[in-house]
Amino acid sequence: MKKMICIICPNGCELEADDEEHVTGNLCPRGRTFALQELKDPRRSVSTTCRTVFPDIPVVPVRTEQEIPKHLMKDTVRAISEIVIDRHMRIGETVAADILNTGVNVVLCTDRLKEVDHD
Ligand code: SF4
Repeated sequence: MKKMICIICPNGCELEADDEEHVTGNLCPRGRTFALQELKDPRRSVSTTCRTVFPDIPVVPVRTEQEIPKHLMKDTVRAISEIVIDRHMRIGETVAADILNTGVNVVLCTDRLKEVDHD
């Protein structure tokens, strides 16, 4: 039996789940889906910042477009920390494609780079 907190909504139900797919503590069906996913293949979105070459906007927010395997979160943040954006970009554009071979892109979360000065 594994204990976990459901992170799907602010209720934060305390769940218990086992390998026979018995789930308790969930107030709604989404909690059961979350618990079974946590047992088999826990995943999370990653939101962090990325450096740029632009002095006026030295860092910008980025995030993974979909959830990635939870065990790759630290490595993903580390990989993103090595990226330096050196061109104008729009919100939603890909900063890093297929990060760590997950099939998930990292995208820009701001429009501040679309017309930033180079110097
Ligand atoms: S089980 Fe349902 S109600 Fe409870 S936290 Fe998860 S999504 Fe929210």
